[in-house]
Amino acid sequence: MSAEPLVAVLIGPGGVGKGSLAERLVEADDHLWLSRSWTTRPKRATESRDAYVFVDRAKFEEAIDDERFLEWAEFHGNLYGTPLPDDAQGADVLLEIEVQGAEQVLRQNEDAVVFLILPPSMEQLEERLKGRGDSVLHVQRRLASAPAELAKGHELASFVIVNDDLDRAAGEILSILEELRRQRRTPSKKD
Ligand code: 5GP
Repeated sequence: MSAEPLVAVLIGPGGVGKGSLAERLVEADDHLWLSRSWTTRPKRATESRDAYVFVDRAKFEEAIDDERFLEWAEFHGNLYGTPLPDDAQGADVLLEIEVQGAEQVLRQNEDAVVFLILPPSMEQLEERLKGRGDSVLHVQRRLASAPAELAKGHELASFVIVNDDLDRAAGEILSILEELRRQRRTPSKKD
């Protein structure tokens, strides 16, 4: 039986709904702890104060030097990072990050489970990106990087989930997590 907490990682292009999905998952699953990332990106007007720990670049770089991140990456000119999880208290850990970070997590923990979240269509992805209140240029940049993120995402992911409906997609991930936990509780024959 594995005593290590499960690490579940949500990846997928910006605007696909990873954030809402992550919130829904931790609401529905008491054993799941959502890591709060740091970023140097300015807060969006549509975003809550605690969506991230918003810091300047100097503070972020200081934390890199002090090795306080599990992973970090530069994405469209801003730094994003997962602090080393010291608040999880034995719960399974949920990360909502981009693909470079997911690669680092998998290098450290090959048992981490990566879920690639897909939009129902690229048109819907564009609509959602526009709805976040970002500039047209920003939306275009995010859309332009989506194909490469998707290609890398398919390489890394164990499961591909289409976010056509938040409840349905969350339900699908929760069932997979339950099954993975069940497998981890059941010793294999060679143990
Ligand atoms: P956004 O600026 O749209 O909030 O996030 C941009 C991208 O950075 C998204 O794909 C998001 O999942 C990712 N991201 C958020 N937090 C982290 C983090 O801690 N590490 C990494 N590597 N990516 C993150």
